[in-house]
This record gives sequence, structure tokens and C-alpha cells, in this order.
Amino acid sequence: MIPRGTRHLLERRVRLLAVLAVFFGAIVTAGLCLRVPDTVATLDPFVEDTLHGMVILVDPGHGGYDGGARAQDSGIWEKEINLAVALQVEKALAARGASVTLTRREDIALCDETTASGTKKRQDMERRVALGEEIGADMVLSIHMNEYRDRAQSGPQVFYRQESEESRLLAGCMQAALISALAPPKERAALAGDYFILRLPVPSVLIECGFISNSAEEKLLLDPAYQARLGEAVAQGVTDYLTLEARRSASPG
Ligand SMILES: [Zn+2]
Repeated sequence: MIPRGTRHLLERRVRLLAVLAVFFGAIVTAGLCLRVPDTVATLDPFVEDTLHGMVILVDPGHGGYDGGARAQDSGIWEKEINLAVALQVEKALAARGASVTLTRREDIALCDETTASGTKKRQDMERRVALGEEIGADMVLSIHMNEYRDRAQSGPQVFYRQESEESRLLAGCMQAALISALAPPKERAALAGDYFILRLPVPSVLIECGFISNSAEEKLLLDPAYQARLGEAVAQGVTDYLTLEARRSASPG
């Protein structure tokens, strides 16, 4: 369940998107029929505002003492790539009008130096979730890189909060947006996942952007241009989800 306040915000957002979708759909169709390509380009200032009012927590996984996985060829830690991609996600979401908060903007873990090593991870994760609560997040996007001992494995994969239908739908939209934007050789499907960062009662997904254990994909994930495409794809996934919710609320049952 989504708390009442959040649900109202989402419903307003979803209604607005439904109206916008019909409105822009009509204009784009008219523009295409009239073969006036500029008509589409002039829509950008409006499209950029599709996430206005959304408060989104973006979580670059790991940080500080916790490096996460390690890229096989370059030796670069996952935490560094997560942050680089998360900054691109922030940029793309903010360009569409969303209010974005990152759990970290530098190479740190969110735990105290003095915390016993056995409980550092727990404290770090609890503080990330608490930050989401504090800002009244409407959505949580956690950014990670995958690894596997079989180096042939590749492709982005999205995980969602198990008991949350909204999260499942968001994950489906996100997975489709990533596949559409990045055309990975291996097309994976979104899966339910039991992750601490997905425990807030709002649409929440953890995005494994690709495998840093795969040579070809590691090269891509380290490339700033590819990181920017990832950021755009994630923002598109969020927009597609809200459009889907708008359609669902327009035709209940
Ligand atoms: Zn990770």
C-alpha cells in the first residue's frame, strides 16, 4: 500500500500525464500527418516537465569501505561506476522536472567510523532508507552493477519489491526502456528481489545496469556516453511507468 498522501500525489500526476498523453498524442499525430518534423521538436519544453512534482530517491549502491563488485579487466570498483551512472540518472530525471535526492554524492558509506564492522552495512542501509522517508520519496531507484563467475553473462536486469504491484510494473517499464535504449545482446526479464533498499512503501526498483564481469559490457559501463544513455533510459522507464499508471487509472478493472 502507498500512504494516502503519496497516493494522492501519484493520482494527480497520473491524471495529468493521461491528459498530456492524449494532448501530445494528437499534436504528434497531426504533426506527422502534415509532415512537419519541427512540430515534434517544439514539444520538448512540455515533455521535459512530465516528472514535475515527483520526489525520487536515487541510490548509488555501496561506497566507502564497501566497494561492491570489482570490474574484472579494469579493476575499478562497482561503487565508482554506480555513482557515475546515478549522477546521469539524476541529470535525466531533473531535466524532466523531478526533484531528485542521491543517498551519496561521493565515495562514502552512510555509517559511522566507530560502528563495529559487523553492523556497518546494516547502519549504512538503514540510513539510505531513512533518507527516502525523510524526503517523502515517491519512488526509489537503486543503481548497481552485476557480476558473475561465468564471464559470458551480460545485460541489464531490474529487481522489484516483492509484494508491491506498483514496483513490479515500474520494473517492467524500466526493463523494457533499458532494452529499447541500449539494445543489449541478452534481453533479461525483471525479477522480484528481497533487498533492504526496496522496503519503502512506494514504487521501488534496484537496477543492475549490466555485468562488470563481462569484458564487452564492462567497457560500455565505463564509457561516459553509455552512462548518459543509461541515465536517459532510466528516466524514460519512470515516465513510461507513470503513463501506464495513467492508463490503468483511466480504465479501472
Ligand atoms: Zn551492488
